[in-house]
Amino acid sequence: MKTLYRFKEAGVEAYLVGGGIRDLLLGVQPKDFDIATAATPEEVKDLFGRQCRLIGRRFRLAHVRFGREIIEVATFRAGHQEAETEGLGERCDESGRILRDNVYGNVEQDAHRRDFTINALYYDVTDFSVRDYVGALEDVAARRLRLIGDPEDRYREDPVRMLRAVRIAAKLDLTIDEATEKPLFALGDLLHEVPPARLFDEVLKMLMAVQGPEVFEQLRRYGLLGKLFEATEEALGRDDSGASLALIRQALAGTAKRIEQDKPVTPAFLFAALLWPPTLMRKNALETDGLPEVEALQRASEEVIRKLLDRVSLPRRFSTPMQDIWHLQRRLFQRRGKRPLRLLEHPRFRAAYDFLLLRAAAGEVEQELADWWTELQEANAERRAEMTATAPGEAGGGQGRRRRRRRKGGQGGQGSQGRRKPAQH
Ligand code: ATP
Ligand code: MG
Repeated sequence: MKTLYRFKEAGVEAYLVGGGIRDLLLGVQPKDFDIATAATPEEVKDLFGRQCRLIGRRFRLAHVRFGREIIEVATFRAGHQEAETEGLGERCDESGRILRDNVYGNVEQDAHRRDFTINALYYDVTDFSVRDYVGALEDVAARRLRLIGDPEDRYREDPVRMLRAVRIAAKLDLTIDEATEKPLFALGDLLHEVPPARLFDEVLKMLMAVQGPEVFEQLRRYGLLGKLFEATEEALGRDDSGASLALIRQALAGTAKRIEQDKPVTPAFLFAALLWPPTLMRKNALETDGLPEVEALQRASEEVIRKLLDRVSLPRRFSTPMQDIWHLQRRLFQRRGKRPLRLLEHPRFRAAYDFLLLRAAAGEVEQELADWWTELQEANAERRAEMTATAPGEAGGGQGRRRRRRRKGGQGGQGSQGRRKPAQH
């Protein structure tokens, strides 16, 4: 409001636009606020002085700061059939694509270059009205998500709009209008043209969120998940036990809950779950070919990550801890002697343990193992000594050990963890 009134006092046309006004009309607390104005970025800078920073080279945006809040202020732009889009514009450096020039326009033109009708509403603080150039208010009332213009054209212009449709519909519990929804089933391949860095951002917005579980189901229904996570979709299709699907669902539900409780979440854990099914499947295949367990996991994870990076980028600061989580899984099977206590001190123990809980909940490993680690963490020194002395399995054992023994024709095939064959081991 302060920003809007500053514009008003200066006699400059400016509106609250986008997700902020949309969410308010739908009764949801907005995440952030965007403002659209007739003023150029330089004029905005003059108006707000040190409070304002200009960002972007080709598509200049103004960031106006109020304490910890940043209000994004964009100059009205005109779009045409093949107009640039906000998202692409922001990332023109990374994408390396040659983009059309930024053309300033008026408020009505600005409305038409936006994606969904409900994202193209303008709140005017000078007369408290909401301006609607695209029939958005009707769609708000009907809780309907509808693209402005011809849906297929708009998806071709910017395929990320497909993912935005799924995300925004799930977030706000909207029905996607039929004409807007239909191409989602058919145009998924367009996502292959989108720079991986942009898809990584979008994946986080979709899945590392309260609506993550719902978005995941919808992405699968539209056949879009496989366009982003090809190996995962393939592994899910091949896993008749349902454990892989259960694991990912658990991870997304857990992430959503943590976000609701304002607890920290990390992409490393989310990606560990999303990529685990294909990694495990590949690891098992490599072990069958005779590779030792540790090496099999290493090779499998490298292959799965390399394949992912063709589509969705995953910065090293996340892929490294993700692989740690995977590699620590094996050590969680070693319960005898000093090793478990050493493992408790490992900087990534907590994440690895959380991941073990997921696997147990998904029926991939015994719940008893997860419970044992839960107890060990809470136990005093005396109880810990007792637990690590009497734990089932030998120190350094685990599945790899069982497997090796069996291969040698050993007699000890009945490991205490072997009550039931885990889903994919
Ligand atoms: P939220 O911030 O709640 O995730 P949002 O709609 O505000 O949702 P932003 O990415 O902040 O999403 O974009 C702000 C506004 O910019 C949108 O409401 C929309 O009007 C416009 N916009 C964003 N991305 C696109 C796009 N790919 N194509 C066209 N317009 C877009
Ligand atoms: Mg926004």
